Amino acid sequence: MLDKIRVVLVGTSHPGNIGSAARAMKVMGLTNLVLVDPACEIDSHTIALAAGAADVVENAKIVKTLDEAVADCGFVVGSSARSRTLEWPQLDPRENGIKVVAESNLHPVAILFGRERTGLTNEELQKCHCHVYIPANPEYSSLNLAMAVQTVSYEVRMAYLDSQKYTGKTEVEEYPRAQELEMFYEHLEKVTRQTRFINKNHPGVVMAKLRRLFTRARPEQQELNILRGILSSVEKTIETLEKSGK
Ligand code: SAH
Repeated sequence: MLDKIRVVLVGTSHPGNIGSAARAMKVMGLTNLVLVDPACEIDSHTIALAAGAADVVENAKIVKTLDEAVADCGFVVGSSARSRTLEWPQLDPRENGIKVVAESNLHPVAILFGRERTGLTNEELQKCHCHVYIPANPEYSSLNLAMAVQTVSYEVRMAYLDSQKYTGKTEVEEYPRAQELEMFYEHLEKVTRQTRFINKNHPGVVMAKLRRLFTRARPEQQELNILRGILSSVEKTIETLEKSGK
């Protein structure tokens, strides 16, 4: 799903920023990087700052125009440090994360980041379905390019992880019902009485503590079945020993 989300850096002028942006992406599980008409070369600074994400830089696609970068995308967002002349639908990074993850189920999605000095042009911003703005200090709202990539990518990851909670996992743990738990506690008490672990006359405190232990551990259905199996095996052994008169 995250494969469908690409980060597009437009007109970047510092080689180091490309490396830092690649690292910011990769730690959040994004690996699709496109550079539009970069104003610098990829050099040793890029690779140094990419650290373990040099592969993201090496696999980056370099194109001449923004149109080329987003041609196959069904949803495009542009990040911007300030609002421009014409009002546009605007999202904060959290809303953007949710939207981008949802859209990426349908088609490729691009998130655009602008030039260090001048950002994205109005024309570029108007190619976007939405704008994303990191609500920073209004008197000093422009983040370093790679840090903006980090902040936006983090929210994409959070939204992705959230979406996996509900759809990604097909196996949902089954927990025993209250009645089954009561049967287990009865069984446990019966066996521990038989082995004389608990005092016939004072089962109270130990049973209460065991209940608290199992409530805290919250055994799944299968785990409870194992516990019941252990208790049954103890009962069987006692029976055999009694029969053989030991
Ligand atoms: N002076 C430029 C800032 C460029 S910072 C301007 O006013 O637009 C480089 C890029 O980082 C921006 O184009 C944008 O993509 C991203 N960015 C920086 N701060 C941001 C913020 N507060 N919200 C969203 N994107 C931001």
